[in-house]
Amino acid sequence: MSELEQLSMLIGGKPTGAISGRTFATENPYTGEPWAEIPDGGTEDIDAAVGAARAALDGEWGQMTGFARAARLRKLAELIGENAERLARLEVNDSGKLYREMLGQLQGLGGWYHYYAGLADKIEGAQIPSPNPNYLVYTRREPVGVVAAITPWNSPLLLMSWKVAPALAAGCTIVIKPSEHAPGSTLGFAELIKQAGIPDGVVNVVTANSGEVGAHLAAHPGVDKVAFTGSTATGRKVAAAAAEKLHPATLELGGKSPQVVFPDADLQAAANGLVAGVFAATGQTCMAGSRLVVHEDVHDELVRLVAERASQIKLGDPFGEDTEMGPVANRMQYEKVVGYLSTAREEGATIEYGGSSEESLGGYFVQPTVLSVKPTDTVFREEVFGPVLAAVTFTDEDDAIKLANDTPYGLAGAVWTKDVHRAHRVAARIKAGSVWINAYRVVAPSVPFGGFGDSGIGRENGVHGIDAYLETKAVWVELTGGTRDPFTLG
Ligand code: NAD
Repeated sequence: MSELEQLSMLIGGKPTGAISGRTFATENPYTGEPWAEIPDGGTEDIDAAVGAARAALDGEWGQMTGFARAARLRKLAELIGENAERLARLEVNDSGKLYREMLGQLQGLGGWYHYYAGLADKIEGAQIPSPNPNYLVYTRREPVGVVAAITPWNSPLLLMSWKVAPALAAGCTIVIKPSEHAPGSTLGFAELIKQAGIPDGVVNVVTANSGEVGAHLAAHPGVDKVAFTGSTATGRKVAAAAAEKLHPATLELGGKSPQVVFPDADLQAAANGLVAGVFAATGQTCMAGSRLVVHEDVHDELVRLVAERASQIKLGDPFGEDTEMGPVANRMQYEKVVGYLSTAREEGATIEYGGSSEESLGGYFVQPTVLSVKPTDTVFREEVFGPVLAAVTFTDEDDAIKLANDTPYGLAGAVWTKDVHRAHRVAARIKAGSVWINAYRVVAPSVPFGGFGDSGIGRENGVHGIDAYLETKAVWVELTGGTRDPFTLG
């Protein structure tokens, strides 16, 4: 076994181990070997990080103008670009995602910091008409304070940046707690903070080999806002902790997104969109288009096209230039996906392609799988978070909408048709935070992202993404200097 890479947490500007001295090894899902030694932080490390974030807010950072914060965000964006290869490598080692996908994602990640740098110096209050002539009234937009950012193991740096970029632009300070399954790249990111000229304590990262440390952070009295991405089950706990403390919370949770294909669609393009939606990133994306709702007349042809492409997908080493699908990211997730496949078989699903693990490759490989199912089947209803597409048929538009919306989730969806009227009509009726027409799996810093229903609360990205990190203060200025009757308003 080769030597483990050593990575440090960041608390108060200092690279550090856990106060307890404990560490844990993080595993590469392709080799099945540990590859890095990670500090196993505890609640005492969270306390120190929250204290450092509070001190930074009360210090130089709290006094800094939006122009000065923007300059630092731009520098951070440049540093991410310069270090994209290292960060992508850390992420691939932890998650088994394709290096070429992660490199592209990391090269584009600076875009989030540039976008919010552009907003940092445009945070404006308003002068408000007063009902009484002796008052000047205006509003100030102030940072909400210390932010807790809790992130999952799929795309750790992308989902972290959806929180860190607007939070820093708004003038907040932050404590990040990445997933125990993929903490490496967030620690690599932490190494860039000082170089970007961001004062000590503004960004802190605590890693831990347990969710309990995340729970301590979510409920911490020193935290003013929680921004969470992860499963719906954990999201409910985070929301309950935030409610107890009356912290605002942004929750980006799970999904079971429909792709609705009408008979007039370009079936080749739809097949390609289905492959991108559920097999890219080995299906481990919150927005995976894992439910195919297809018109009965084109079911066989579309399923044949998707199955044919699935059969050609090259599984293998995530660093291989021609690899198209890597392993599932960790043992727990692998067992979960394999469990869903056996449930699908028990419930009578027709296996159009795949349906098993791929043991010949070692690592946690699962075959890209295409199933024709009933709308009541578990695999059509629950989030698998793996490369599994479940197809059902519809007869008319109302039937299609009913099937698409028959889920407690509402993160994303797609409609495939050449009929422009139907395209917009159906997009309006799909209950989801993002709907693509004749496309799938596109996100951008400028476009809001988030879910309806069990997929979460609030939106990240876009101009209004910064509002989640700002409080509004109304300031009343008495203009005459006169003394008023203390027993009347005004
Ligand atoms: P998870 O809920 O298990 O863990 C997410 C994070 O929460 C981790 O850092 C974990 O340590 C921490 N945590 C665990 N218990 C906690 C608690 N009680 N209090 C506070 N924090 C706690 O999720 P995961 O398995 O890492 O990620 C996969 C899930 O994330 C999927 O359901 C997926 O759909 C969802 N996801 C959503 C989005 C989105 O934007 N909507 C994006 C990516 C992933």
